[in-house]
Amino acid sequence: MRIALLGFSIECNRFAPAATQRDFETRCWLVGEDVVRDARSAVPMALAEMPGFVADMDAARPWTPHGILLAMAEPNGPVEQPAFDAMMAIWRDGLQALRGQLDGVYCVLHGAGLTTELDDPEGALQALVREILGPGVPVVCSYDLHGNVSDDMVRDCDAFIGYRTNPHLDMRECGAESAQVLRRLIAGMPAFRALRRLPIVAPTVSMLTAQGPYAELIDLGQDWAAQDARIINVTVMGGFAYGDTPFNGMAMVVTATEQDAADALATRLASAAWDRRERFIAKLTSLEDATGLARDSEKKLAFADVADNPGGGARGNTMFILEAFHKADVQGCIIGVIHDPLLAAEAHALGQGARFTAHFNRPQGTLTEDDSFSHRFTAAAEVVALSDGRVTGRRGIYGGTAMTLGATAALRVGGIMVVVISIRTQCADPAFLEHLGLDIGAARCVVVKSRGHFRGGFDEFFGHDQICEVDAPGLTSPILSRFAWTKLPRPVLPLDAEAKWCPEAR
Ligand SMILES: [Zn+2]
Repeated sequence: MRIALLGFSIECNRFAPAATQRDFETRCWLVGEDVVRDARSAVPMALAEMPGFVADMDAARPWTPHGILLAMAEPNGPVEQPAFDAMMAIWRDGLQALRGQLDGVYCVLHGAGLTTELDDPEGALQALVREILGPGVPVVCSYDLHGNVSDDMVRDCDAFIGYRTNPHLDMRECGAESAQVLRRLIAGMPAFRALRRLPIVAPTVSMLTAQGPYAELIDLGQDWAAQDARIINVTVMGGFAYGDTPFNGMAMVVTATEQDAADALATRLASAAWDRRERFIAKLTSLEDATGLARDSEKKLAFADVADNPGGGARGNTMFILEAFHKADVQGCIIGVIHDPLLAAEAHALGQGARFTAHFNRPQGTLTEDDSFSHRFTAAAEVVALSDGRVTGRRGIYGGTAMTLGATAALRVGGIMVVVISIRTQCADPAFLEHLGLDIGAARCVVVKSRGHFRGGFDEFFGHDQICEVDAPGLTSPILSRFAWTKLPRPVLPLDAEAKWCPEAR
């Protein structure tokens, strides 16, 4: 079996500054044989779908992988069009060189990509694969459950496979399942897909899979699939509001060996989602209440700065929580991780033990003086620890992944230990703090710039009842009424109470 391997994974926030080629190069940029070499290595750079796919294929029977390009980046703004065009050229050349020789294709996708010109780069890539290889070569695509599903994405693949966990702890399983389905397709199994999209743009914090309405939908989908041998995969795509595309909306995508089976299950599941529509809302703790809890609570707490989540394209540098906690003289707190390369470099130049006046958010990179969320903050600080930011993830979504945070520093600011990094990353793994010698177990409270993936990494320290989602301003605020939407289909829940959906309309 000769299988082409490619991928494009970035979650794009319409309201964030554009992503560049370099944002992929600093995270995961693998060309040709490196795709497979990385997947088979002990500590891959790629997230776990491709390693999961390759391991499952390796275990099954002899095969010949043909890596083309796997490009992954931390969530960001829309990708600069010339950078995406250059990627498309690499995929085009690679696929053309293999035309007539391939048995199948695996694409690792996210689903919430944007470019500065396109609303649906994944759809464009999938259309390219079909255009070059034709309909006869099976194509399996896997997606993050935060993807927004276009009609093209469902049309131009044979099997559509999304994550089932949030935090995403099943990326490897998703890759392995993709390999198993691709082998069945190559052996001649027919595949049909059904898409049902709902006028529900669920706030990110309402899409956890441990409990709540989204968890119920995932479970229902799996239960119903298990009762019908014709069902190949059931995916519930929660979507990513900040993509602000014309096809935003929670989507049910079912892949089955018969069209009728796919249609019936997709409609049944969409109805179940619509029945739960009033539960997809954000319930946050005000910054004032969070500050009081941080100062006075006997219980050890984690505060999630959900509105400044680099994992949703935010900049990871807003000062609202640090400023409020510092003013209230909160003690025994760790705040991680704040993206400020200039400050990290200054701490490295001054050295461990130095005391200085720390100026957060001086203009740098895409950060300007008048940035509406990332205002300046100044405080007396001490350099407690320094590192080059090379870390192997310990738990959760980054577990076992080689990460680089760039020059990193732990600064003591009053009673708060602030971890400053140079390469914008979501604080989803305790190793980001621990590698500097910080003891999370001994801290009274921790603030993480993460919406929800920290739950998979910090679960050793904080149960669900010890987590506070804080309502501070930012590019990923779950309060969707604060954004100037341009393409979101309206009316849509939870923004517009009059939004309607009925299965008969299909
Ligand atoms: Zn995601």
